[in-house]
Amino acid sequence: MNDYLVDLANRPVTGEFVKKLGLPTPLHLVRAEGGYVAQPLAGKVVLLGGVKGGYATTALEAELKAAGADVVRSVVALADEQKIDALVFDASGAQEPDDLTAMYTFFHPVVGRMAKQGRALLVTGVPAQAATSAQAAVWRGVEGFTRSLGKELGKRAATANVLYVGPAAVDRIAGPLRFFLSAHSTYVDGQPLRVDDSVVASGTPALTEVFAGKTVLVTGAARGIGAATAARFADEGAQVIGLDIPQDLETLEKTLAPLGGLALGVDITDAAAPQAIAAFVKEHAKGLDVTVHNAGVTRDKTLKNMSDKHWNMVLQINLAAILRIDAHLHAKKVYNDGARIVCMSSIGGIAGNVGQTNYATTKAALIGYVAAEAPRHAARGIGVNAVAPGFIETRMTAAMPFMIREAGRRMNSLAQGGQPEDVAEAVCFLASPGAVGVTGQVLRVCGQSLIGA
Ligand code: NAD
Repeated sequence: MNDYLVDLANRPVTGEFVKKLGLPTPLHLVRAEGGYVAQPLAGKVVLLGGVKGGYATTALEAELKAAGADVVRSVVALADEQKIDALVFDASGAQEPDDLTAMYTFFHPVVGRMAKQGRALLVTGVPAQAATSAQAAVWRGVEGFTRSLGKELGKRAATANVLYVGPAAVDRIAGPLRFFLSAHSTYVDGQPLRVDDSVVASGTPALTEVFAGKTVLVTGAARGIGAATAARFADEGAQVIGLDIPQDLETLEKTLAPLGGLALGVDITDAAAPQAIAAFVKEHAKGLDVTVHNAGVTRDKTLKNMSDKHWNMVLQINLAAILRIDAHLHAKKVYNDGARIVCMSSIGGIAGNVGQTNYATTKAALIGYVAAEAPRHAARGIGVNAVAPGFIETRMTAAMPFMIREAGRRMNSLAQGGQPEDVAEAVCFLASPGAVGVTGQVLRVCGQSLIGA
């Protein structure tokens, strides 16, 4: 669905009119086209700074250069009119409150020179690993700074995110760095993500065609976010198996045909669904490398008016089926070593919503599920995460009443809804070998929505 306000605000004549009316004037967001490239930051000016003694700075500089960035360590090295594409700050050296002033000193003079569609990325220590309470406090403080910065940068379609990285996980920073600083993360704003060394890694992660030779299952792939996700995996060379309900098999086949994907018509709540999936994978591939549990439904009613039929339907599709399918695929060793699992949660599961007691229960449950599953499978190199989309332009949100839809679209730092492709990008990142340091977590794709902030 098109966002009329983004269209009007970005045309010269109507743009002025929109401004005069006092309406928000969201910029068109620039999104990545196609798959990952070896040097996503080629031609980008990145200013790198940090608190003295930060343990991530050397790795950040090396990885930024490997990604093609023109890395500068001082703004003095830049011509006055030169815009800065990305600001990267390593706060891991902070120990005491006064150390945080380095963050102010770094950002204050240059934040006004951030390019449109620019990126800020902060790296901080893991508070649970801090030597003192003061250190835990200042490391955690970086998240508050980042979230506020994201809100200030939104008008420029620029974003700010923060990585919690312990010293043992610094060598896993490249994947998240490339994601957060590139146009692959356009609608991810104001978010924290932890990078750790819990998942056993094997070899050096590929940077391009990252799913070549890999088999990826996407449920609910006939349309919307699932269809965009299937296409994104195909961009990276994956053999995609798309699953949807048998009634939608024709639509599913049409979606998958251009991707060379295989269509599987199965209702995930069917008692035989886990076996049917396992048998299909066995017939067509050598195990599964990625599953995206995307299929989901809403059946909104206030609790007082909610039928037990709709309560149960949502519980079965959005939660119970996923747990049953995963249990079977693990038990039958359908998941290969190093596999990645991504569940589709929702900001509804973080914030709750009127009329969504059923939906929010299941989407919050998935957050608990990935946190519990992650340590269980880490020794086999398997990572388990969730994505929580905010307002995404699909038939689910097109069905909302106008005023609720408008509020959902605008109440975020970027003042617009996301596209299914934005969610697909986050899923693809979390499923990629470069995200080996990320497990048990939930990444919001919501433009820094005020809902559940
Ligand atoms: P959609 O309705 O466009 O697509 C969902 C797909 O899942 C459909 O093709 C449907 O046929 C399939 N499906 C439903 N029940 C199934 C079953 N029992 N077995 C197999 N397939 C089944 O929805 P969407 O907006 O693309 O949402 C995809 C996921 O993202 C859902 O889990 C949804 O809860 C989540 N999500 C969406 C938004 C949003 O703004 N659109 C926000 C947060 C979360």
